Amino acid sequence: MPDHVTFHDLTQTTTIPEALLQRTESDLSVFLKRVTPIIERVRTEGDAALRHFAQAFDQVTDPQMSIKATPEEFDAAFTSIEPDVLDAIKYGIDNIRRFHEAQKPQDNWMIEVRPGIWAGDRNVPIDSVACYVPRGKGCFPSVVNMTTIPGKVAGVPRLVIVTPPSPDGTVDAGTLVAARLIGVEDVYKCGGAQAVAAVAFGTETVPACAKIVGPGSPYVVAAKRLLSDWIDPGIPAGPSESIILTDDSVDPVLAALDLIIESEHGPDSSAWLVTSSRRVAEGVIAALPAHWAEMDEKRAGFSRAVLGGKHGGVILTKDFRAAVAFTNAYAPEHLEILTTDPMADLGRIRNAGEVLLGTASPVTLCNYVLGPNAVLPTNRAARTHSPLSVHDFMKRMSFARVSPEAYPEAARHAERFARYENFTGHARAVSAARPMPKVEPR
Ligand code: NAD
Repeated sequence: MPDHVTFHDLTQTTTIPEALLQRTESDLSVFLKRVTPIIERVRTEGDAALRHFAQAFDQVTDPQMSIKATPEEFDAAFTSIEPDVLDAIKYGIDNIRRFHEAQKPQDNWMIEVRPGIWAGDRNVPIDSVACYVPRGKGCFPSVVNMTTIPGKVAGVPRLVIVTPPSPDGTVDAGTLVAARLIGVEDVYKCGGAQAVAAVAFGTETVPACAKIVGPGSPYVVAAKRLLSDWIDPGIPAGPSESIILTDDSVDPVLAALDLIIESEHGPDSSAWLVTSSRRVAEGVIAALPAHWAEMDEKRAGFSRAVLGGKHGGVILTKDFRAAVAFTNAYAPEHLEILTTDPMADLGRIRNAGEVLLGTASPVTLCNYVLGPNAVLPTNRAARTHSPLSVHDFMKRMSFARVSPEAYPEAARHAERFARYENFTGHARAVSAARPMPKVEPR
């Protein structure tokens, strides 16, 4: 594999080339076609289809694999996990829980809009949510933490996990350990489009859910898009992406290390260093091969493919203002600011899923243990969407109640509206006599 790094010199222009804003997710057409028959088969054949696709895509050898993880499999996971991995999972859970408990919407509220008209909002957890935990190119107990903890804090009554099985038909041990520590024991062994279809329609074993959250491959993203009439697909969370934004103050060897973080997820990731410093740009390009040489071969291969491809590498801008403008237009999932005053530069960022400030806050920390959620909007969705949060597991219901004293005036205006809009049913309802019990706000 060559050590080529993609380099774009934008110092002579202020126009942002549209091609640089694209991700692999930008064109899902191939995946939409591939997942359509998978979805249909799960809809018509249920569990049998899940077992079939586990053999076809996850290389599962046992045709009778149990689709739901058993209590014995959870016990075995605790036996096999190394103590320091267990400690790391617990440390992550602790911080992530604290962050999300602080984020939980506080009490329901009510105001007196006018004398005798009371109205407010009630926060209610969603009945059932499925958390997708990827397994294709790695194992992700971190995603269990990020998806199930906000769900638990929100109070979702039915919180389940779907995740692809390993070839021996088991679930990754870290995934089961994290799930049990958080209090989720409904773990189903299915991945990709078939998992999204399973929780959208329900099968003999997998319950139908109202919503699915969590990151996944383009197969998962495509299935969520096709099934959005059946299940709420949550925030768009596809292949990972990052920008490392720097001025001239950073050590390029360190910036190169952080640029690699999100590029090692897979060849479908996107990762850019965006800098106003030629010294940093050239230094990062020079530093990358030595870092790759120290990495796991498969991960180094993914990183090389991303940083030498269409969706990653190094971008040199005319000045720091142009670097910020590119970042806001790109709207990255993860953003790291490595500048002399990152806190001041935070105020210039409008579009990013998360922003990590300074050399002591690399993306690695936030992906695992800092507390904020690392499931973030991808594919420019950070322009309008927020990180996964407790709010994604809840919804608001508005309510109102009117006193007999306030009713005549409100009814008169409402009737006038109704007649203007030619809703005679609406109008008749408010002109009719109705019982008026005394109302006290509670
Ligand atoms: P995955 O579980 O999302 O996808 C694997 C599944 O894809 C397989 O189980 C299979 O069902 C399906 N599949 C594979 N090949 C197929 C084919 N030819 N046809 C139909 N279906 C097929 O795992 P992954 O592949 O590792 O992808 C995980 C994604 O999630 C990556 O893009 C990664 O960047 C992203 N990610 C994001 C975060 C985050 O928090 N932002 C964390 C982890 C991973």
